[in-house]
Amino acid sequence: MKIVGLTGGIGSGKTTVAKMFMELGVPVFFADIEAKKLMKSSKVIRRKLIQLFGNKAYIDDELNRPFIASKIFNDEALLEKMNGIIHPKVVKRFQRWAAKQIMPYLISEVAILFENDSYKNYDYIITVVAKEEDRIKRLLERDDTTEEKIRAIMRNQWPDEDKIRLSDYVIVNNDLQITTEQVKRIHKKLLRRAKTS
Ligand code: ATP
Repeated sequence: MKIVGLTGGIGSGKTTVAKMFMELGVPVFFADIEAKKLMKSSKVIRRKLIQLFGNKAYIDDELNRPFIASKIFNDEALLEKMNGIIHPKVVKRFQRWAAKQIMPYLISEVAILFENDSYKNYDYIITVVAKEEDRIKRLLERDDTTEEKIRAIMRNQWPDEDKIRLSDYVIVNNDLQITTEQVKRIHKKLLRRAKTS
């Protein structure tokens, strides 16, 4: 079974594309959602995050996202420590989930893949790209956020051209119909590659 990483910058359409693959019967693991769930449910993670960030890390049962975001913003060492707490647990969950799948390939949708070197763990990588102004417009429609906040996150992510260089497939997500066609084409290729290698 081959493991495919599906990534892309903020608002590029990763989740939209992941759902298109699911429609074709491909199992998809949503790594960022799993990480969020674990930060809420795992006592070990909670204890370690409180050790790292202090008592303000959680409010009641919920992770204090704005507080943590303000701490890790522009502090790479702290971000790395936080990832070091969460990432291994997500990997474990992924492995347990992957062991139950029977398709020739499966997908893990993950926002940060190149930035932390984890791209080396995948057999193939798909990167979703879209025009910056479209991404900003879509995110402003979807979330309670500002253009400034979106641009700040974009600055912390790798530029598309660097991601493309290390990707096996690139999906240009402008028109949804055309995106679906690209997904179907890549699905066929991945099935073929997964069965023959
Ligand atoms: P994030 O980085 O926040 O996880 P993402 O990369 O997973 O986002 P999506 O959530 O799939 O991106 O898409 C962002 C928003 O844009 C969603 O509201 C989605 O419905 C919309 N969207 C995605 N692709 C298109 C498209 N081709 N045309 C119009 N709207 C789109």
